[in-house]
Amino acid sequence: MVCADAPIDRPHRESTMNATRPVTKSLAAALALAVPLALVGGAANAQRATAPAGHFDVKGKGPSTYTLDVLERSRATLPFSDTRDFDEQKRGFIAPMTELKIRADAGHVAWDMERYQFLLKPERFDTIHPSLDRISKLNMNYGLYEVIPGIYQVRGFDLSDISFVRGKTGWIVIDPLTAAETARAAVKLFQQHVGKGLPITAVIYSHSHGDHWGGVRGVVDEADVRAGKVQIIAPRDFMRHTISENVYAGNAMNRRLFYQYGILLPASPYGHVGQGLGMNVAAGAIGLIQPTKVVEKDIEEFEVDGVKMVFQNTPNTEAPSKMNTYIPDMKALWMAENVTATLHNIYTLRGAQVRDPLRWSKYIARALYLYGQEAEVMFASHHWPRWGNARIQEVLRGQRDLYANMNNQVLHYANQGVTINEIHNVYRFRPACSGCGSTAATTARPSTTAAA
Ligand SMILES: [Zn+2]
Repeated sequence: MVCADAPIDRPHRESTMNATRPVTKSLAAALALAVPLALVGGAANAQRATAPAGHFDVKGKGPSTYTLDVLERSRATLPFSDTRDFDEQKRGFIAPMTELKIRADAGHVAWDMERYQFLLKPERFDTIHPSLDRISKLNMNYGLYEVIPGIYQVRGFDLSDISFVRGKTGWIVIDPLTAAETARAAVKLFQQHVGKGLPITAVIYSHSHGDHWGGVRGVVDEADVRAGKVQIIAPRDFMRHTISENVYAGNAMNRRLFYQYGILLPASPYGHVGQGLGMNVAAGAIGLIQPTKVVEKDIEEFEVDGVKMVFQNTPNTEAPSKMNTYIPDMKALWMAENVTATLHNIYTLRGAQVRDPLRWSKYIARALYLYGQEAEVMFASHHWPRWGNARIQEVLRGQRDLYANMNNQVLHYANQGVTINEIHNVYRFRPACSGCGSTAATTARPSTTAAA
């Protein structure tokens, strides 16, 4: 769940822990053990730097002709002529974040956008898959955006986005990033431009993955939560799955995550280019405050700081504990991480619980029929919003069909005798209906991204 972006000068992360509750202490213990692993990885890389010439060049080498052919075929066949993502990604821009680095309280760099500036050059990189290149350029958003009046997002401060919804007396935060420092910096930028100094009155955790709750201590004070001034809302079984993934299996998953994302590679056209869902994960202080209200029913409606919200639990989709949220008075649909601009892994290399693509597809279908008929804006915890009902329905249908098709066709081939080691050469996504296929292909880039 937790990862880091700079392997060399990172101090021990346990010193950044603000552990005042047993849960957080457990997380700190799990993470404290994980950090030396990161440093071991860094040392291994450094050793390779002195390997004999011709064996391995840490600065990278050019792609083989085979790779060039594969990338060229992708350029020719993927629907790059559909550029609507680029229009949507920049819409509503209010203010940039001017500091490219955000420091952790412990002194090291928690977040570094400087290392990805090469992506903004107008050149083509033959070493990067065109789809990864495209999504990474789209993820270079770094600042404050208006979704609609009353809803704002700070993007590019972490792997995920932090969203602010105007309540009756203050602001409702949805998904407070991974680290307190980047979350605090996001609130600061937000308050400078549109927050009007009003307090954070509620926090919603959309799901159990760390990039959606770990920065909560940079957003609210736990004493205010205990005093009942701030409500924290989470989906059913949130604590069980959060602890299971981040503490019980925390070290193992953290170690595997470093390999999955290539986190210890230097950022360059030959190294780390981004993580699909965002550029990286902030390496700051991670903390958790237990929810004060859990959404237990499949669908539950109540007011949060005077705003009517309809919560839809979607267990065993992108995460085992997860929910979408509809805000009817704003016609705003929050799809958590169930519908973003990527195709998620079903089985992640980092070892998250295997996802159920058929259930996932059905929950998207249910959201489409319950809320997608009238929503005028759809936003999520990664990437950028979609505006207009037709566009929302198009994206929801495309993503629904994508996960269902993957489930059904892979089963079909398995029944025909195709094995697990052959399936990637056999399965191809084919649209189930005309008009929705190009959207799925556009919004869901194959094999370049993975969920946090
Ligand atoms: Zn995420």
